Parts: sequence; C-alpha cells; structure tokens
Amino acid sequence: MIGVLKALGVTFGTMLRKPVTIEYPTVHRPVPERDRAFPILLWDYEVDEPFCTGCHACERACPVECMTVTMKDNPKFAEGKSKRRKIVDQFFIDYGRCMRCNICVEVCNFDAIAMNNTWAGHELSTEDRKELVMDLEQLLAQHKTRDPGTRIKPWVPS
Ligand code: SF4
Ligand code: SF4
Repeated sequence: MIGVLKALGVTFGTMLRKPVTIEYPTVHRPVPERDRAFPILLWDYEVDEPFCTGCHACERACPVECMTVTMKDNPKFAEGKSKRRKIVDQFFIDYGRCMRCNICVEVCNFDAIAMNNTWAGHELSTEDRKELVMDLEQLLAQHKTRDPGTRIKPWVPS
C-alpha cells in the first residue's frame, strides 16, 4: 500500500512539474545567436532589383562548389535607373551540398548575400534532394517576403 502511495506521489509530482519540452513545430525556441543556416540573396528595395551583380566571386570561393552564377547586362543601367552595369541572370545554390561555412557571404563585395539564420532557414526537410537546389527566385524570395523590421541584414565583418 505504501509503495502504491509513493508511486502516485511521484506521478502527481511529475504532473505539476513545468515541462522541459516544447511542442515543436508549433512552438519554436529562439535561434541561438551563433547559429548558421543557409545563404540567401538580398533584394535592393531602393532600385527594385537584386544586389547581386553575378560577379562569380562567391562561386569561385565556395569550397564545395555548390553555387552556379551567371550575369547579364542590366537593362535598368541602360535606362539610367540603376548604377549596376551588370546584374545576376541565374543563380543556383544546392543546399544539399552547402556546408554553411559563410565564405560566400564574406567574399561578396556587394552585400548581396547573407545567411538566413532563422527557423525558416533550417526547416527545409524534403524527401527529394533535387528540391534543395534553390534557384534565383527562391533565393530572393526568402528576403523579399520578410517584413522590414526583421529583414536579414548584410554581413558585417567583426
Ligand atoms: S555557405 Fe559555404 S558551402 Fe554554402 S554556398 Fe556559401 S561558400 Fe558554399
Ligand atoms: S552574391 Fe556577391 S559575390 Fe556572389 S555573384 Fe552575387 S555579387 Fe558576386
């Protein structure tokens, strides 16, 4: 009898204890300060075009060669609406190969690329690896849809 009462005491004590787990994915813990997710491209809202000029610096520096970039003449430059003579034409990053090293961000001279260090940058699980190859539209969409208050900022060297 005493044993049963002790067991019930443990049960009720546990019921009243604050849970240490959370209901992921409904609830998210804050992303740690030094967390690193995947790179995305940034949108220049002033000129209404990508910051990326398609210069290939990141593509050449990527240690795992998971980036592909092409450039084209910028039609807005010809119209006098942009200072960018060249602009990105196509951009692919294979998130399935990216090792999240941040090198592409560090070598970019145009502040055109940043790491999406948010839960949205992590929750990309899929059953097909092909879906992890992001094109220009997908890479820009992650910045364009973000509200200005929480918009991802260009990387600043410390
Ligand atoms: S974070 Fe590193 S591995 Fe990933 S695309 Fe950039 S340079 Fe390549
Ligand atoms: S992201 Fe930066 S380094 Fe990479 S191609 Fe665009 S402008 Fe060049």
